[in-house]
Amino acid sequence: MECLFCKIINGEIPSAKVYEDEFVYSFKDIAPIAPVHYLIIPKQHICCANEIDETNSALVAKVFEAAAKIAKAEGIESYRIINNCGDDAGQTVKHLHFHMLAGVKMGWGAESLGRTE
Ligand code: 5GP
Ligand code: ZN
Repeated sequence: MECLFCKIINGEIPSAKVYEDEFVYSFKDIAPIAPVHYLIIPKQHICCANEIDETNSALVAKVFEAAAKIAKAEGIESYRIINNCGDDAGQTVKHLHFHMLAGVKMGWGAESLGRTE
């Protein structure tokens, strides 16, 4: 498997681990865009949100369970979770992942999409 995040999960590529359980792995984003920027990923390789179906959707719930545990453990009261699906949305790594962002007051509106066209 050539997938970057699969290699991070199995330890072939080092990462700054934040949380791990049977289903989920979380680590610090290598290029953070907020004071807190974690990635939370299912251990099972799923390419993107478009591949979520009745056989694997429980893993998405596990991702959100992990986010709540991380937030409680680290005293994070407010955070944003983002999934980019597909090229136009900015997905660069084709292993389903959720960005957990915190530590800064975030805007909400069209301008916060960082639109390029
Ligand atoms: P995407 O753009 O696909 O939604 O998010 C991919 C994220 O993975 C980016 O925020 C990028 O900084 C992060 N990333 C890419 N390669 C690595 C890596 O080798 N290690 C870590 N920790 N993060 C990475
Ligand atoms: Zn993968």
